[in-house]
Amino acid sequence: NEADNVDSEGEKPPPLAGENVMNVILAAVECAPWSKAGGLGDVAGSLPKALARRGHRVMGCGQETKWSVVSPYIGGAIMLKVEQVVAPRYSNYPEAQEIGVRKQYKVDGQDMEVTYFHAFIDGVDFVFLDSPNFRHLQDNIYGGNRMTAQLPDILKRMVLFCKAAAEVPWHVPCGGVCYGDGNLAFIANDWHTALLPVYLKAYYRDNGLMIYTRSVLVIHNIAHQGRGPLDEFRYTDLPEHYIDLFKLYDPVGGEHLNIFAAGLKAADRIVTVSHGYAWEIKTSEGGWGLHGIINENDWKLRGIVNGIDTKDWNPKFDVHLTSDGYTNYTIETLQSGKRQCKAALQKELGLPVREDVPLIGFIGRLDHQKGIDLIAEAIPWMMGQDVQLVMLGTGRPDLEEMLKQIMSQYSDKIKGWVGFSVKMAHRITAGADILLMPSRFEPCGLNQLYAMNYGTVPVVHAVGGLRDTVPPFNPFEESGLGWTFDSAETNKLINSLANCLLTYRQFKQSWEGLQRRGMTQDLSWDNAAQQYEEVLVAAKFQWYMHLIGVNE
Ligand code: ADP
Repeated sequence: NEADNVDSEGEKPPPLAGENVMNVILAAVECAPWSKAGGLGDVAGSLPKALARRGHRVMGCGQETKWSVVSPYIGGAIMLKVEQVVAPRYSNYPEAQEIGVRKQYKVDGQDMEVTYFHAFIDGVDFVFLDSPNFRHLQDNIYGGNRMTAQLPDILKRMVLFCKAAAEVPWHVPCGGVCYGDGNLAFIANDWHTALLPVYLKAYYRDNGLMIYTRSVLVIHNIAHQGRGPLDEFRYTDLPEHYIDLFKLYDPVGGEHLNIFAAGLKAADRIVTVSHGYAWEIKTSEGGWGLHGIINENDWKLRGIVNGIDTKDWNPKFDVHLTSDGYTNYTIETLQSGKRQCKAALQKELGLPVREDVPLIGFIGRLDHQKGIDLIAEAIPWMMGQDVQLVMLGTGRPDLEEMLKQIMSQYSDKIKGWVGFSVKMAHRITAGADILLMPSRFEPCGLNQLYAMNYGTVPVVHAVGGLRDTVPPFNPFEESGLGWTFDSAETNKLINSLANCLLTYRQFKQSWEGLQRRGMTQDLSWDNAAQQYEEVLVAAKFQWYMHLIGVNE
């Protein structure tokens, strides 16, 4: 581990380059609040702000403090200064201004124009790339189901996006900072931006440009990989010998083109969004065909659990709780606040307004991953209990249909919302007593984190990030944060939920303890931001070692 080579006494190491300021550019195809289909949008909208906060705090300090405050990894030789996010401009965003830069990029032999837009918010420079290819995709970023979205259409969009994103430091030099040396790092996210590390190598580093620039690829969900036939490699517009990076063989698809595979090999570092998932993706069950590559690149992999935006997802400030009978609340006003939000939710959805009935919530993509079918199988048992169930989701048409059917069959106890509504997601999180997440796999999961921050107790399948973040309730020690079940089976779900309901009904003190422990955790991005910083610094440091001839 290169960190061990570093002066651990906190001595000032010599500056590595320039002003020791690291410029970080995060590229993602979703960015909340402008665009969001799932957790990726939340992460792209909030992690950069936390990174920028660290940088700005340091910048505000004097020279001496500067050395002592920053990452312990190399004694604080590098600071994060400028944080940029690059995302497609799917529609008109009032906050973002055109900056007068238009560039042409070749995609499938055709010149495509990209116009750069910019907004500076909460210490972060948001750069939006405008092109007819991205516009009007707001509600359908992936052009349909993420699993089945067809290359090459989506691939061509990603080629354009990644080519244009790689040049952001040249065309949008936010804050007047000079780029182009070892102070620059890109954070790419999922397969959609996995071409970015490849382009940084093929177009720039191989040609003596941006040779110090580092890249980190974050795995938010390895099940979506950008798979297609090998001949679609031509759309990537890369030198022929690069095809080897993209070739993957698996028993199901045979030899095929795999965009994620290439990005994972090309990136200097790989991060995934929980420790549990970092382990799971190395197994044949959890790696979805990429486990071989992950194992080969294990040395550059790190699990970092996502944080949450504690301004947006905070019952104290939540803007969606200020009307229609809802109310903001804190840990001090938890019982009365939650009671009021629960009554407002019951009223809004047309459920009997009852304080004593446990209200169970589900929020998520309607997808096999999220275990919605397990909930469906548990419905007959649930309907034998005195409970209410509220479900919000959108996704696979057959699962949407199933949800609608369940709702009409048990309309006095189950209400739902087939569609995407951020407002409803916040209101369910506040008004429900229990949040159900029976995901078959869950890289990190954000809804359980939001739930705990609102005093809503999670019942989850102990997998990936859910296992990392929801330690099971232990009634003897009065510890833990929720209920977990160890395999994605309906009877296990029922068993956990039954125990949870028993505690809700009969052990009020234990219940309040669970709520309070959930609400008093530090779920902010601060901790994760520091770990990302360590990854960025490690990537940079390693490259310097390489350049001066020290073996890695
Ligand atoms: P994933 O990224 O796999 O979809 P996460 O739990 O990491 O799952 O993040 C899901 C995010 O998307 C959360 O912010 C959740 O509130 C939001 N979300 C999911 N479905 C809906 C929906 N139908 N309406 C509003 N928000 C939704």
